[in-house]
Amino acid sequence: MDTLPPFATHRVENQPPPFAPRDLWRDDVALREAVSRESGDSHAEALARYGALAGDEIYRLSFDAHRDKPRLRSHDALGHRIDLVEFHPNYHAIMRAAIEHGVAGLSWHDPRPGSHVARAALSYLHHQVEPGTSCPLTMTHAAAPVLRHAPALVEWARKAAAPSYDGRDVGFGDKAGLTLGMGMTEKQGGSDVRANQTLATPVSGDEYELVGHKWFFSAPMSDGFLVLAQAPGGLSCFLMPRWHPHGGKNALRLMRLKDKLGDWSNASSEVEFQGAWAQRIGDEGRGVATIIEMVMLTRLDCMLGSAGEMRMALAQAMHHARHRRSFGKPLLDHALMRNVLADLALEAEAAIQFAIRVAGAVDRAGGDAREQAFARIATAIGKYWICKRAPAFVNEAQECLGGAGYVEESILPRLYRQAPLNSIWEGSGNIQCLDVLRALAREPQTAAALLAELESAAGRDAAFDTQFDPLRAVLSGRTPVVEAQARVWTERLALALQAATLLRAGSPLAPAFCASRLGGQHGLAFGTLPEGLDFDLVLQRVLPA
Ligand SMILES: Cc1cc2nc3c(=O)[nH]c(=O)nc-3n(C[C@H](O)[C@H](O)[C@H](O)COP(=O)(O)OP(=O)(O)OC[C@H]3O[C@@H](n4cnc5c(N)ncnc54)[C@H](O)[C@@H]3O)c2cc1C
Repeated sequence: MDTLPPFATHRVENQPPPFAPRDLWRDDVALREAVSRESGDSHAEALARYGALAGDEIYRLSFDAHRDKPRLRSHDALGHRIDLVEFHPNYHAIMRAAIEHGVAGLSWHDPRPGSHVARAALSYLHHQVEPGTSCPLTMTHAAAPVLRHAPALVEWARKAAAPSYDGRDVGFGDKAGLTLGMGMTEKQGGSDVRANQTLATPVSGDEYELVGHKWFFSAPMSDGFLVLAQAPGGLSCFLMPRWHPHGGKNALRLMRLKDKLGDWSNASSEVEFQGAWAQRIGDEGRGVATIIEMVMLTRLDCMLGSAGEMRMALAQAMHHARHRRSFGKPLLDHALMRNVLADLALEAEAAIQFAIRVAGAVDRAGGDAREQAFARIATAIGKYWICKRAPAFVNEAQECLGGAGYVEESILPRLYRQAPLNSIWEGSGNIQCLDVLRALAREPQTAAALLAELESAAGRDAAFDTQFDPLRAVLSGRTPVVEAQARVWTERLALALQAATLLRAGSPLAPAFCASRLGGQHGLAFGTLPEGLDFDLVLQRVLPA
């Protein structure tokens, strides 16, 4: 037996215990309160199950799924095209667990009040530990309602919502559950999808042949893709299956995989359509109007994902600060570290409380016009602001771990690489802000919904009320907003809406959020909260000991 100590020179001391296993649902007070407030309580058991799984098994599996990047197999040994992407087995295990627990389909296969809220919470929990798989999961979730618009695709919609994952390279008919991707972006224009050049030629009825390319095409092993292409009547939306409905592979060629900054467990490709079979959804010329339903839901998940990145980064920072000692006491007891962590805690709570508020509006949108209008505009506002805050936030949390936060065994480098992505895809920052202006100008019900939301929180905090006045003028059309100021006003709206959510929820963090974010008592970096705030109260809420 080896009787030597593990190291000849030292003992391992002053290092925190492992972060996981950890129950991500039980530990997250803000999430549980938000889900309850937005009527998601009937799914609490499912959320509790997934929170425990995500913080244990999925967390453990995620490291190899991320490190061992997907590989393109364009040809087999004999030179035939196979157009396959190989993933680490953990990728498939994670996808299976997520889909079976409803991360992609709960809102559709178990529709009752609060289902969108619960699915949003699942998405947030999942993204904390394995954000790469969030991409195919969110696209699958978001594509289902679009598929329902084509009577011939109802079975596709049902299988996309099913709690069943099948990663085999086989056709639609051989699977009980499906995954979906999205093909909009081409080389000559991503934000401006009207510049799409891919041509769709009618073959018979709603069936077309597509010729062209897509410059970004994520999750290319999905069973089908909603793509935009130019039909005789203009830009139109299509379902393109990976397998031809009459047998054999569809003429969809994977050219290469993108070498990305992060998001490594997820494959993003460039593709060519070489006469690929596709089924039209919606009328010719209505492509953007048809696919926007999918995009609105993926944008909600961008917001939830960035909130999830913040939550995981903060939880890691808190865990470290609680156990690591410096200059004779735990990091958590140092006044300046408390300011940093409390400041991050305000940001993270405002992010998830607001994202779940928007999910609640999506849930009620079908029967409530004001909630529909609120979801429409709050999605763009939240997608802009929460995704924009994540990279700086994750960096700050990373710094709380010192050097360990820069090393791959901690999850922080992975989160740091992931963090910029949500603000780029699904409509980059400027596009979201311009969308906010467009909605305010052309859909007056959106301004009315924002006014009502902010009004309902008035009179509870002086800083909030002061900020509300200029916003009232904008939302009632008295102050016109020029294009160059779109970010300024979207940011102000986002902060006011986050504050309103916290105030209405009675969150103990609301006064500190309002003082720092609305009352001007804050610097440009995190950790600049003013004196006199109750840091204990904020920090006790973040992570149970
Ligand atoms: C990892 C990854 C995976 C992706 N996966 C997919 C996918 O699966 N399917 C898919 O369709 N796309 C995908 N995308 C593409 C993504 O959606 C686009 O990159 C994004 O929409 C921006 O388009 P673009 O790259 O063409 O940039 P551009 O449209 O050229 O925009 C560049 C910049 O200019 C800004 N800008 C554009 N127009 C204006 C304007 N009028 N005023 C002010 N600013 C403006 C944009 O906000 C952006 O900051 C993916 C991207 C990445 C990074």
